[in-house]
Amino acid sequence: MPGNSCAMWPAIEAGASTKEEVHRSVSNAENTAAEVRDVIIVGSGPAGYTAAVYTARANLKPLLLAGSVTAGGELMNTTDVENYPGFPDGIMGPDLMENFEKQAARFGTEIQFEDVTELDLDGDVKTVTIGTGETFKARSIILSTGSAYRELGLPNEKRLSGHGVSWCATCDGFFFKDQDIAVIGGGDSAMEEALFLTKFAKSVTVVHRRDTLRASKIMADRALAHEKISFVWNTGVEDVLGQDKVTGLRLKNLLDGAETELAVTGVFVAIGNDPRTDLVKGKLELTAEGTIAVDGRTSKTSVQGVFAAGDVIDPTYRQAITASGSGCVAALDVEHYLADFHA
Ligand code: NAP
Repeated sequence: MPGNSCAMWPAIEAGASTKEEVHRSVSNAENTAAEVRDVIIVGSGPAGYTAAVYTARANLKPLLLAGSVTAGGELMNTTDVENYPGFPDGIMGPDLMENFEKQAARFGTEIQFEDVTELDLDGDVKTVTIGTGETFKARSIILSTGSAYRELGLPNEKRLSGHGVSWCATCDGFFFKDQDIAVIGGGDSAMEEALFLTKFAKSVTVVHRRDTLRASKIMADRALAHEKISFVWNTGVEDVLGQDKVTGLRLKNLLDGAETELAVTGVFVAIGNDPRTDLVKGKLELTAEGTIAVDGRTSKTSVQGVFAAGDVIDPTYRQAITASGSGCVAALDVEHYLADFHA
């Protein structure tokens, strides 16, 4: 999986500023790896940071394991966020995440930019292992690991990843100045990518497998009206062409089976996301959609003391604001759980 980081070099550069801070931690200097904490939050999108604000304000001294290159989650790869309430003029995704981080830190969240590699969720005290091998223990865990970009599943897509195939227009779009680019998908992400790419590209061709867009009307209308964007409907991608870098796509009309080639030097895949559940497969119950199963409207997973929030539990809404709300729910559930635990 390409993950939530960008697909090409800027991805790594974008992560690098975060990576430099990998060992930065914020406040709670009295905590040590050996102690049993009240709560550890895994993942640092809107859900994780909101859970951090709430649990920190409840004096639970949360440790937030934010991830390294994926820190901040999907909004780090977004430009204007126009639909997060409280920002009437919109806000850039990375700026919004910086605000989240500052707010969580302000109330004493300890933030470490580390990747979790293993979770032991058995028993009353859970163990979290990070990439360095260090372990942390806690009475409760909030999983807010978000989702990762979906791939088309073509062998040449992987081979040419970083050589013309990308999952992140904001990271890689700059490299395609005055070039012909394709965007695959028909949802809000695809429209967002296509619109952003018009800043650089000579042309953007959206390839969609149906004849209607899944995207919201406002995004669809903007893309449909844009002079640089054209659409190829009812069409699947059969192959990504090119030896060392992308030279085109082989397309198949899904109505009549006709195959054509589209000459492009860049391909942006925007066909949705899959919940990031690798850490908990076989440990927590998952839904048919692959998200972590929770009990009704709560954040309670199938294992006591383990809570989940954000895109990793949500196959439907998947908005920054719904993830934030879900992070709040998880924090309140943890508060109640710990009150019983300590009683
Ligand atoms: P999405 O809504 O699930 O759309 C995925 C698109 O990719 C669909 O058009 C789908 O086709 C197509 N697709 C899926 N698998 C495919 C495959 N194997 N081959 C070809 N095409 C494939 O995902 P999304 O666009 O990433 O959006 C996810 C959520 O985030 C949504 O709730 C969306 O509203 C939200 N979002 C919002 C904004 C915004 O408000 N600005 C921006 C980005 C995302 P079908 O239509 O045929 O299923």
